[in-house]
Amino acid sequence: MGSRTPAQGGAILDTTTEDRLRQREPLQRLRLGLYSYLLLWAATLLGIRTGLLQADTPHWLLFGAALLVTLLLALQSRYCPGRDPSTLAFPHLAVATALVSALMYYANEVRDMMMFCYFIIMTFGLFTLRLRQLILLAALILCCAGLLDALEWQRQADNKALLPTLAQLSLLIGGLAWFIYIGAHLRLFRRRERQQQLRLAAQQQHLEATNQRLRDALEALEQMAIRDPLTGIYNRRYFMERLHQEVARCQRHPRPLHLAMLDLDHFKRINDQYGHPAGDRVLEQVAEILGSLLRRTDLLARYGGEEFALLLVDLSDSGARQVLARLQQRLADPAVQAILPQPVTFSAGVAAWRPNDSAEQLIERADQALYAAKHAGRDRVASADD
Ligand code: GH3
Ligand code: MG
Ligand code: MG
Repeated sequence: MGSRTPAQGGAILDTTTEDRLRQREPLQRLRLGLYSYLLLWAATLLGIRTGLLQADTPHWLLFGAALLVTLLLALQSRYCPGRDPSTLAFPHLAVATALVSALMYYANEVRDMMMFCYFIIMTFGLFTLRLRQLILLAALILCCAGLLDALEWQRQADNKALLPTLAQLSLLIGGLAWFIYIGAHLRLFRRRERQQQLRLAAQQQHLEATNQRLRDALEALEQMAIRDPLTGIYNRRYFMERLHQEVARCQRHPRPLHLAMLDLDHFKRINDQYGHPAGDRVLEQVAEILGSLLRRTDLLARYGGEEFALLLVDLSDSGARQVLARLQQRLADPAVQAILPQPVTFSAGVAAWRPNDSAEQLIERADQALYAAKHAGRDRVASADD
């Protein structure tokens, strides 16, 4: 859609649909006018045949002119779109008023009865015009009725009584005033309804924004619950959860699974020499470097202090060793060493999952291998299965 208004309780259409419906309005009005005129034309022909209308009623001229004007108005609205539909409705209804008045001029005894046509026109105006236009239409109808009465008065000056004419005119005025009164109320209701819809839309927008904020906060909370605040990698709690899942999965469908415990060597010295904040920075950098070398399926977590846990799935023993060797090489890279306050190495113990191993047993074996690596002089990887 062009621009979407906020969903307004499902009751309000989006702007494109609204525009499309608005563009269709002149065409619908043309069709409606056409059908009404054709029906009235048929009634007029019947009236002429039965003598209710004068035989010399120029129906071709009257209906031809009305239809032509209606067509021109429809064409104008087709080629000058974007105008307020009520602006276009007024000329249509003015033409209809003129046509009905002309027919009334040629009517015999049914003339007074035909006044109900004015009320039909006012009914159309009630739903399509602005209040000011509705008043204008009522004034036009009154002028036409007055003119007809004046002409009729002139025609039968001698035998026409004034009182019935005045009574009829007052009836018409009363009817028109009633339409204007109803029209004013209808517009007031509509305005209130629109204001209520706008209020609802604003409330919905507010709710959506609050909802989004809550979703963001929830997402942030979820991340906080599973990530280590210093390094941004997964925390021990999440790691343990995933380790249990992986072990359970391997117990159902056995596949290679390796756990490596990594511990930075002589990390205390960095803290002692450069301060705790510098030590923090090193932990962040090491976590980032290690994480950047792993596959999406590998899981790296800060197990505690300067110790990391690494879970490798679907790798052979030699594949797991290669990964750890790659991490060691990367840390030893001069470009990496250049950004660290002093060379950093790690010792690691790696254990392959064996059928019936629990998560705790796997950790225990990896830990023992790590201890062996430390004991053997650090900066090396030891395997629990060697
Ligand atoms: P080893 O080679 O035997 O592992 O020696 P090490 O100094 O790394 O080990 P040790 O267990 O003696 O000391 C670990 C140090 O890691 C001590 C502690 O202050 C430091 N450490 C643990 N967590 C943090 C942390 O979050 N930030 C900083 N800056 N230091 C930490
Ligand atoms: Mg250490
Ligand atoms: Mg340690």
